[in-house]
Amino acid sequence: MVNSKVDYLRISVTDRCNLRCIYCFPFEKKSFLPHSEILSYEEIADIVKMLSETGIRKVRLTGGEPLVRRKIESLIKLIKMISSISEISMTTNGLLLGEKAFILKEVGLERVNVSLNTLKEERYEKISGYNNFRDVWNSIQVALRIGFNPVKINTILFKGINDDEIIDFAELSLKFNLYVRFIEYFSTQNEFLSLQSKFVPNKVVKEVIEKRFGRFLPAEVIGNGPAINYRISGAKGSIGFINSNEGYFCDRCNRLRLSSVGKLYPCLFSPFNIDLKEMLRGNLSEPEIMKAINNLIRKKHNYSKPMERQYEFAMNSIGG
Ligand code: SAM
Repeated sequence: MVNSKVDYLRISVTDRCNLRCIYCFPFEKKSFLPHSEILSYEEIADIVKMLSETGIRKVRLTGGEPLVRRKIESLIKLIKMISSISEISMTTNGLLLGEKAFILKEVGLERVNVSLNTLKEERYEKISGYNNFRDVWNSIQVALRIGFNPVKINTILFKGINDDEIIDFAELSLKFNLYVRFIEYFSTQNEFLSLQSKFVPNKVVKEVIEKRFGRFLPAEVIGNGPAINYRISGAKGSIGFINSNEGYFCDRCNRLRLSSVGKLYPCLFSPFNIDLKEMLRGNLSEPEIMKAINNLIRKKHNYSKPMERQYEFAMNSIGG
């Protein structure tokens, strides 16, 4: 029986994205969902309200790219009005964060995770599809300046693509109050299987960093995630490892996921979900919807061993 409290909800607010990362939403993938399929802000807020009654206290907005959805600050305002939600955060590629950071902070966004897989400007386009490195770097500096706390950097490494930047990323945590997290790649759909041969295990990343900077110190990091966190001696920030493939952390998992089309999942890899959009638009009563939600949470509690995983899903729709 899993004991962790389910208090954290990740919401994919759109499947659209303004980047074309090789491992997530490359140029070959063309189609987006029609707007009518995507939950409205009011529907999302209604769902968060119901989930707050089951114990959800923290919400993260993701996608797709959350900042390409128009007036995302209106959604944050709506969620802020739900008194039992204590924290709202966002995962973004950072392209639009620089220009939206102030308004987001003003309406109550507290924390941001910015995805960045290279610190080399010329390499950024190869991995992400467009040449926007400077926008992202500028956004990270703005986020630090206006006091998002913490500002985390999400990095995925691939052999022969960016695995020569391990030390550069580690140094970011020395110079800035940044929480650099190395996320192990997991292939989500058959089309990405070729990237599996470029997989870089976090065990190796940790060894490379410790060889250069000495043994890690343990670090306390604000957050909800499965990262194992450390600090290089004298560093302003920290380094975290999310061992997507090697680590089994179901027993520590406190999260649910709401996809952009309104499906609620107990786990990213779960084939099981409930269609909250259909229930809301089909005018099911609140007690009936709550019954379905409680049943899903009960199922999650029964994941007492690594569950059978399904990999045929799109990160941009279900939300990374
Ligand atoms: N567009 C936003 C961004 O780039 O951060 C939010 C959505 S993105 C899907 C969220 C996170 O999932 C990013 O940090 C991304 O690197 C990560 N991600 C996407 N596909 C992944 C995969 N196959 N394995 C591990 N992480 C993945």
